[in-house]
Amino acid sequence: MGISEKMSRLGTETAFDVLARANALAADGMDIINLGIGQPDFPTPDNIVEAGIKALKDGHHGYTAANGIPELREAVATDIEKYRGVTIDPNNIIVVPGGKVTMAFAIEMFGEDGAEIMYPNPGFPIYESMIRYSGATPVPIRLLEENGFSFDAEQVLSQITDRTRLIILNTPANPTGGVVAAAELSKLAEGLERFPDVYILSDEIYSRMTYDGEGHVSMLEFDALRERLIILDGWSKTYAMTGWRMGWGLWPNALIPHAQRLCVNYHSCVNAAAQYAGIEALQGDQNSVDKMMSAFDARRLLIHDRLNALPGVSCVLPKGAFYAFPNITGVGLTSRELQNGLLQSEGVATIAGTSFGAEGEGYIRFSYANSTENIERAMDRFEQYLATNGVSA
Ligand code: PLP
Repeated sequence: MGISEKMSRLGTETAFDVLARANALAADGMDIINLGIGQPDFPTPDNIVEAGIKALKDGHHGYTAANGIPELREAVATDIEKYRGVTIDPNNIIVVPGGKVTMAFAIEMFGEDGAEIMYPNPGFPIYESMIRYSGATPVPIRLLEENGFSFDAEQVLSQITDRTRLIILNTPANPTGGVVAAAELSKLAEGLERFPDVYILSDEIYSRMTYDGEGHVSMLEFDALRERLIILDGWSKTYAMTGWRMGWGLWPNALIPHAQRLCVNYHSCVNAAAQYAGIEALQGDQNSVDKMMSAFDARRLLIHDRLNALPGVSCVLPKGAFYAFPNITGVGLTSRELQNGLLQSEGVATIAGTSFGAEGEGYIRFSYANSTENIERAMDRFEQYLATNGVSA
């Protein structure tokens, strides 16, 4: 007897493998610049850390309600009102250990043999991994560079079949930094009214990370979808809290009991002290978020300029998140070869576009959540790598 067949269908997130290899090379004495892993390089703001410490000292050491402490769910509802302009019931919020968990629960709820789930490709690798694991067929929504890595609403609607159970959307997006325009989202929302049995998971984990004054447009703004819409967001990116494992999902009424039962089966509840820190994050001073975003903005412009100056490389200007996703087809290497070459020869960690799905071939992801100095050094090394490998303008 061996492990179940479905385990062989579970994928992974290459970012963690690259991180392990980069750490191993660093342990051997190599000077590594990590533009691979997708997490802010800033520490969690002090006021949030202090709130977590206080919660521990105040004795918040036990289990909490499976869906999260009420004060936290109320704080999330207020935050949704503030940033998305929509009033929701805090009882529809389920706090989970990281954004990934809302994703896993939604896919688990709708995925089974014979079902189809649509997902962005290139996109966050766990979508495809979990869809396959669930037994459903993954149906890629192709995100093309010429559309600024947005999707075409008509194209998405034309891919819906009578087996489609769930459509996953992600804007601002990982790995492309693309943002889907409000008009396209609106067109999609309107079209989805023709398919009342199809649920939507909108991954809005980068909702606060947009640039050039372009605000985030949430799928929550489309009233007609409300009863079949799941919103995924959390603290990881906005508040530099990736290691705290704090995320939230907004679930429609019909799915709440199922999501709660999954919580009880999988993790009981989220770390109590982290939940108190989460309240402070949402209600406290937002200045640190603004500061982090202006730093990301400067780095975004820098990496975009530097990448476009390299032979064989071209990069659209990212509009959200903290990733640049240049086209590297002119370099003459596959995405994976370039990822490995940059790490082995130059000590620059990046992620091959194919780690985000087959549509990512010809691209490579740089996380610009690193200092301008390191971005400059990494770009110098990339330039040197191209020169050594005979790539010229
Ligand atoms: N969704 C997207 C699009 C992401 O890029 C990530 C993390 O990189 C997540 C969800 C998961 O976030 P968390 O670390 O909170 O689980």
